[in-house]
Amino acid sequence: MEFYQQQQQSQQPQPIAQQHTETHVPQSKPVVQQRIVDAVQQSLLPQRSTVSKGKYSLTDFSIMRTLGTGSFGRVHLVRSVHNGRYYAIKVLKKHQVVKMKQVEHTNDERRMLKLVEHPFLIRMWGTFQDSKNLFMVMDYIEGGELFSLLRKSQRFPNPVAKFYAAEVTLALEYLHNHDIIYRDLKPENILLDRNGHIKITDFGFAKEVSTVTWTLCGTPDYIAPEVITTKPYNKSVDWWSLGVLIFEMLAGYTPFYDSTPMKTYEKILSGKIHYPSFFGADVIDLLSNLITADLTRRLGNLINGPADIRNHPWFQEVVWEKLLAKDIETPYEPPITAGVGDSSLFDIYAEDKSEDYGSAGDDPYAEFFGDF
Ligand code: AMP
Repeated sequence: MEFYQQQQQSQQPQPIAQQHTETHVPQSKPVVQQRIVDAVQQSLLPQRSTVSKGKYSLTDFSIMRTLGTGSFGRVHLVRSVHNGRYYAIKVLKKHQVVKMKQVEHTNDERRMLKLVEHPFLIRMWGTFQDSKNLFMVMDYIEGGELFSLLRKSQRFPNPVAKFYAAEVTLALEYLHNHDIIYRDLKPENILLDRNGHIKITDFGFAKEVSTVTWTLCGTPDYIAPEVITTKPYNKSVDWWSLGVLIFEMLAGYTPFYDSTPMKTYEKILSGKIHYPSFFGADVIDLLSNLITADLTRRLGNLINGPADIRNHPWFQEVVWEKLLAKDIETPYEPPITAGVGDSSLFDIYAEDKSEDYGSAGDDPYAEFFGDF
C-alpha cells in the first residue's frame, strides 16, 4: 500500500498487525481526480439481480452461533446445507420491529441492501420470512468489528486511521451518488474482511433521499447537530459522522462523549471540540471542516462534494483508484486461524434457546412486510 508504507516510514507507528496478533485482537491531480470520479461512477449499479422472492428458506441453512445483537433481533453465522458456505443471517422479530415503529426503516434496509454493490459495502443475497421473523442473508465477514479492533488497540496510528477513513469515504461517496444517506456510521457497523478491508453493514437507518429528510435517528455520539434539532438535513450528516469516526480512531474516544445521551447532545450542540495535543495540524483542519454545524463550511457539502474530502491534505498519500481496486496492502490482517467459518473475532453472546425461527401459524404483521 503505497501511501501507507510512506506514512509508516515517516511516522514509525506501532506495528499494528503484530500488536493485534499478540493480543489476539486485534495527489490528487485533475486527471487522477477525473479517473476517480469515473471509477466511482463505473461502480454504480447495474443492479445485481438478487435472489428472487421465496428462493431461500430456513431449511437451506444450519444456524450456528450469534455474531451480534440488535434491538429487534440478532445476526447468526449460518452454513448453507447445499454448498457448505458460510453466511451471516440477520433475523428481525416482526413484533419488535412493529413495536419500535421501524417497519419503514426495515423495508428500506432490505431495499437499499438489494440495490448496493460496492467493495466496501456488505452484500445481501436474499431475504425470506416466517410468521414471526424476517431474515436477511448476507456474506459472512470474518474479521470482526472495527470497534473491537479499536478498543483492543485503544487508538490507531495516523496511517491506520487514514486507511479505514479512506475506504469509508469511498463507500459513503458511492451511497450518496445513489441518493442514499447511511445515517449510522460508527465502528460497530464497520466489519473487516479476511484481508483487512472494510465492509459497512447495518443499513437499518439508510434512506434513499435526493434532497432532505427529518427523522431523528443514528447513534448519539455520531449524530450531527441538525439531526438533533430536527431540522431538515441532507447527506452531509454522514460527513459529520466521518469526522467523528476519524477523531475516535485517532483519539480512542469520541469528541462529544458524556455519561448520558442528553449530555452528549448538549456537547454536540455547543460545538466545542477539544483536540488531543498529538493530533496533527492537517487532521485538525480536516476534522474542524467535517465536524462543523456550519453547512456552508462542512466538507462534502460544498460545490465539489466529496472530492474536497479526498483532496484534503490529510489524505494526500491516498491513491484512491488503487484503494477502490483493493490494490493496497491493508494495515492489519485479522488473525483468522480456523479457515472459513472462523468466528473467533466476534464477541460471545448468550444464545437464545427459545428462538421461534421457522414457525408457521398466524402472522398478524403480514401486511407490513410483503416485500420480504
Ligand atoms: P446489525 O444489527 O446489522 O448492526 O448487526 C449486529 C452485529 O452483527 C454487527 O455489529 C456485527 O458484529 C454482526 N454482523 C452483522 N452483519 C454481519 C456480517 N455480514 N458478517 C459478520 N458479522 C455481521
